Amino acid sequence: MSAQLHFLGTSDAKGVPRWWCTCSVCNEARTTGRNCRRRASALISYNNDITKQSEQVLIDASPEIREQLSTLTNKHIDSVLISHPHNDHISGLADIAMWSHYLNEQQGNFVCPLYSPRDVIQVLETRFGFLKDKANFPFIHIESLNEPLAGYEVQAIEVPHGANGSSYAFLFTSVSTKKRWAYMSDCIDLTDLEPWYKLDLLILGASFYKENQPLEGRSVYDVLEATALSQQLRAKRTILTHMGHGVDRRKKAPASVSYAYDGLVIDLP
Ligand SMILES: [Zn+2]
Ligand SMILES: [Zn+2]
Repeated sequence: MSAQLHFLGTSDAKGVPRWWCTCSVCNEARTTGRNCRRRASALISYNNDITKQSEQVLIDASPEIREQLSTLTNKHIDSVLISHPHNDHISGLADIAMWSHYLNEQQGNFVCPLYSPRDVIQVLETRFGFLKDKANFPFIHIESLNEPLAGYEVQAIEVPHGANGSSYAFLFTSVSTKKRWAYMSDCIDLTDLEPWYKLDLLILGASFYKENQPLEGRSVYDVLEATALSQQLRAKRTILTHMGHGVDRRKKAPASVSYAYDGLVIDLP
């Protein structure tokens, strides 16, 4: 049994380069490209050697999802998890719906469920009201999910998203090993630390390196704050994502964390 995570996109809401920006990170992103980042999405790929079952779960559907999925060998998606209804996390949903519809026409009876908390689904129903027939791409309250996805029990836990209200982070617990990892892309000023202690892997959003603005008015951690949180939570491994043009991958990350990049594939606990 093995599971991997593909980082399809690792930027904040504005992408890197920001199309209007000529800072050194954005210019580097346009040329050599170490900092070139699309909006944040990730894909869990699970393979069970015994049952020969394979399953892929998409976390968020960024505006660039079409390009992000086009480059993959296995483009099949079994289900979608949505963390919160901000544009950079949901703009690609119509692309997934079109694919799901196509596959249903080819194979019949194909269903790709989208799971998210009740309040997020409410927003999605309004935003994507034009997806009239969602029989093969149903939006389902994650509260009613009572089976594992890709070998993991999945919990959506509300986390503060600062000036932007709240978001959800996903906590994954392996059915076979009980190891735990989390995907927390949009969060700041987390107060309920309990569920997140001693994770085997923490994937955490950090939009800037060091943000000099006061906490109010902001919505995502900076790299230094994210590093401090990771240490406080005693995470075994921390990978930062959702990074804006304030994060320069040509420079070293603080010792206990690493930077994700588009195309990075890691083994999951
Ligand atoms: Zn975001
Ligand atoms: Zn957000």
